[in-house]
Amino acid sequence: MDRTGQCHCGSLRVITTGEPDRVYLCHCQACQRRTGTAFHFGAAFPKKQVQLDGERKIYERDADSGYRIRFHFCPNCGTTLYWEGDRNPAVCGVAVGAFDISAFTPPSDSIWEESMYPWLGLPPSAAHHRQGRPPMTNQT
Ligand SMILES: [Zn+2]
Ligand SMILES: [Zn+2]
Repeated sequence: MDRTGQCHCGSLRVITTGEPDRVYLCHCQACQRRTGTAFHFGAAFPKKQVQLDGERKIYERDADSGYRIRFHFCPNCGTTLYWEGDRNPAVCGVAVGAFDISAFTPPSDSIWEESMYPWLGLPPSAAHHRQGRPPMTNQT
């Protein structure tokens, strides 16, 4: 199944093929600041299943894991659609909010709950993690 998401202004698009490894919520402070809201909603894919179409800029920083992580965003409107990091170079993430509301399943994981907004309710499908996920994942 192909899915297409886009930034706020529509000039940067992300196209995914097949199914994600996982769909998750991240409550870490870096995600709260990056998104400007309570949590980040992402889907992790094998990199070969994801393509970007359009001009973008890259913001790179250290992740909590100690590895570098890079966020690809629209230079016009600032929406981040894609990220990838050195911890798990085969995997990337896309911003679920950039797609149709029905494009992805509810999240299977909720990570960095130690900085979660205390009033926030979570879907019953979500496994709870105080910090990052156990191995095989790339926490942002
Ligand atoms: Zn844009
Ligand atoms: Zn995060």
